[in-house]
Amino acid sequence: MAKGLKPGMVLADVRKSFGKVEVIHGVDLVVEEGEFVVFVGPSGCGKSTLLRMIAGLEEVTDGEIEIGGRSVTDLDPSQRGIAMVFQSYALYPHMSVRDNLGFGLAMANTPKPEIEQQVAAAARILKIEPLLDRRPGQLSGGQRQRVAIGRAIVRKPQVFLFDEPLSNLDAELRVSMRIEIARLHRELGNTMIYVTHDQTEAMTLADKIVVLRDGVIEQVGSPRDVYEDPANTFVAGFIGSPR
Ligand code: ADP
Ligand code: MG
Repeated sequence: MAKGLKPGMVLADVRKSFGKVEVIHGVDLVVEEGEFVVFVGPSGCGKSTLLRMIAGLEEVTDGEIEIGGRSVTDLDPSQRGIAMVFQSYALYPHMSVRDNLGFGLAMANTPKPEIEQQVAAAARILKIEPLLDRRPGQLSGGQRQRVAIGRAIVRKPQVFLFDEPLSNLDAELRVSMRIEIARLHRELGNTMIYVTHDQTEAMTLADKIVVLRDGVIEQVGSPRDVYEDPANTFVAGFIGSPR
């Protein structure tokens, strides 16, 4: 794993209000380059909102976000060096897998040979080469999720953002895709921020777990830290420590 001392991402006193209601209450977090960080916590605790602020899909009410050592707080999503994979695959139904993969690059006026090369590389990494001429409707759920991840890969982001990417899949597929995502991280070495409410996913994927409750970080640590030495009864209960 290409882990360095360079900061992959820094959140400094990040806050979010919807109207008068603050839902993210001053989050501070340092992520090392190449780290696999999992945001975990119950539904409604603010995982998606935090991820969407990192992506630039949601404005930050207060605070700063740095990616790769530069402030991105006021940048458009396309300028942040991130790519996001959603729970709903959001593929274009009328386009082939090949065109779905290359669409973002085509929109950015990338030369055709380069698009072909990037698409081929992503298809190889995700083992979806035989599917390139199909349309999303002709794919299984797991295959669609691979294409969605492939679309993120072709953009060569510094940081991958995943928002519960496996929650629409059945239990068996979730396990195999989880293993795929771990392999992807080993292979690519990028910083990855992964949101889930599933403790098993968090424990098996994370270098670092961030436990959230009601817009506040309750604990940051390795899976072992949060399991063996939970900061409080909430973390203990949520992660499932016997304590
Ligand atoms: P999670 O992803 O952990 O389930 P969310 O980030 O979606 O949680 O939501 C955090 C809180 O912010 C919740 O109380 C939710 O109702 C609220 N919230 C999220 N998006 C909006 C919005 N667009 N407008 C108002 N409230 C929102
Ligand atoms: Mg969510």
